[in-house]
Parts: sequence; C-alpha cells; structure tokens
Amino acid sequence: MTKSTLPTDDFNGRRYNAYNDWVRRVHGGRLQKVSVDAGFTCPNRDGTLGVGGCAFCNNAGFTPGYLREQHDILDQITTGVAFMRRRYHGVKAFLAYFQSYTNTYGKIEQLRKCYETALGHPDITGLVIGTRPDCLPDDVLDYLADLARWVPLELEIGIESCNDAVLRECRRGHDFVCTQNAVRRATERGLSVTGHLLLGLPLETRASLIEGARALAQLSFDALKFHQLQIIRGTRLAWRYLANPADVPLMSPETYLDAVIDILEYLPGHIKIQRLGSEIPAKQRVSPDWGGRFSRFLPIMLDARLTERKTWQGRLRRGAVSQSG
Ligand code: SF4
Repeated sequence: MTKSTLPTDDFNGRRYNAYNDWVRRVHGGRLQKVSVDAGFTCPNRDGTLGVGGCAFCNNAGFTPGYLREQHDILDQITTGVAFMRRRYHGVKAFLAYFQSYTNTYGKIEQLRKCYETALGHPDITGLVIGTRPDCLPDDVLDYLADLARWVPLELEIGIESCNDAVLRECRRGHDFVCTQNAVRRATERGLSVTGHLLLGLPLETRASLIEGARALAQLSFDALKFHQLQIIRGTRLAWRYLANPADVPLMSPETYLDAVIDILEYLPGHIKIQRLGSEIPAKQRVSPDWGGRFSRFLPIMLDARLTERKTWQGRLRRGAVSQSG
C-alpha cells in the first residue's frame, strides 16, 4: 500500500480520528469537562428495572473526589474548574459534565433546573449529558434539541455492548434495538451524540464486537468512547470474580487494543474517538492493574499497533480503500 491510501490528512497524521486533535484544531486548546453530580439515580437502581444496578457499575469508580463532598451544582463546578485549571494548561472552555448515574431520568422541570443552573455558572459554556438509551422520551429529546440551538450540547449514551446476550448477562435492562432507536431519535433532532462502549464484558466475543461495530457504523454518532472492563469493588461482577476469577475472563492490554482496532476498522472516518480507556483507582478495583498510567499512553500504543497491523479507522467499511500493505 502506498502512503497516499492512508487517510492521514483527515486524521491529522494518525490512523484514527482523535477527538483531542479535533478540539485543538477547532477550539485552539483544551475543552475541559467538569463533572457534576446532580443527584439523579437510575432505573436499574431505584427498582423500576432493578435494584442492584448493571453488573459492572459502581459510580464511585469514576466519581471525582470533589463531588462527594458538595451537593450544590454551582459549588461543584467552581471546585471542579479550580482543580482543572491547576491540573491542565491551555483550557479554552469548560463544559458541565452530568456524568453520575442517568442524567435524563427525571421530570423535564427537574432536568431544566439542573442544566440551566450549570449554564448559569460564569465558566461554563456548554453541557455534556450522560444517560441510558431507555431514558430519552420525546419531550426530553425535544427540550435538549431546543437547548442545543443555543449552547454546545453533547448527549452521551451508554451503549456498553451491541449484543443482547451480553446486555442480559450484565443485567443492563435494555436491548441494542433500544440503543439504535435512541441514537436515531436524537440525531434526527440534530443532537450531537457520543456513544460509550465497555469492552470485555462477559459473553462478548471478537465476532460480537465486529457485528456490533457494523451496526454502530449505520448510526450517526459524532463520537465514541472506549473503556476497558475493570472490575470495581462492590459490584455483581466483583462478587463473581472474587468467588472464581475464571468465571470472568479479562482482557490483557494487548487484546484490548486489538479489540478497539477490530471495531475502528468498521467505523466511518467522521466518528471522533473521544476516549480510549480509563483508570479506576487501585483501592476501588479488584481486577489486575494494567501497569503504570496505562490510559495516558493509550493513544501512542494504539497508533503503534495500528501501524503494526497496517490498518486504520474505516479500512473495512464497505466502499473504503482496502489495499493491504
Ligand atoms: S451503569 Fe448507569 S444504568 Fe447501569 S447501574 Fe450504573 S448508573 Fe445505572
């Protein structure tokens, strides 16, 4: 293959469409999310669908420490912005990230109050709203679409898996058709949608991931986030794993990277890859440490592995240039 068959112009010299490159190109610096816990719950915890939550979920695993100490949305943002300013240079704008639990699981008036309170903070220029696909009724989507006409708004939908057996096994409480419908209904209204995937769940296979990638490629995502399965203390998966580790086979960093690539190969080039992995603090995790600050070096490792496999995002899409070499 000659170098010209690689989409390096579109991907800023990489082999995949990195969200951070796009942010720097469009905004000239870092777009920083500030997590907000608005006190929502989720239907998989409050008894509507279940009480124990999804098998992998313990929100403490990804909730920043400052959110556990204060309840007021504006105070959380002020603390979060100060923290991010100390940690990162070149932040161009802050987005309020409604991350914990299901942030569209409430009456419109409650949602409106939460989001518009956050938007009233002087440092906040937009919203990122994380939710489940089965918690997006028409009136909520209509309201979000209206809000998105005035402020940058990203809707983050938890897909986790595209395979119904996997979703059942982790007691997710919805199927993949529900996800497809939610993404279609949101994007038809012009909303920018990011999908959240969790790779390595029980019963997931390479074949099911590839089948899922083909299905995701048919939807109008703006971005996708990948996470490796980490087993968090206090979850159903942790009980299973601690009772018998062989009952929950885990990926290695190498198999995880290859799984990400297996999916990337089927994704259209316009989908930005917003996240490649995460790192849950050791004291909250029972699964093995992947060593050092794994997530920090993921972009470099992914590029190296893509090069080694002589592939790139979208290579196996129908109609894509597919020479090897
Ligand atoms: S992953 Fe989301 S839907 Fe599942 S239990 Fe956790 S908060 Fe609820």
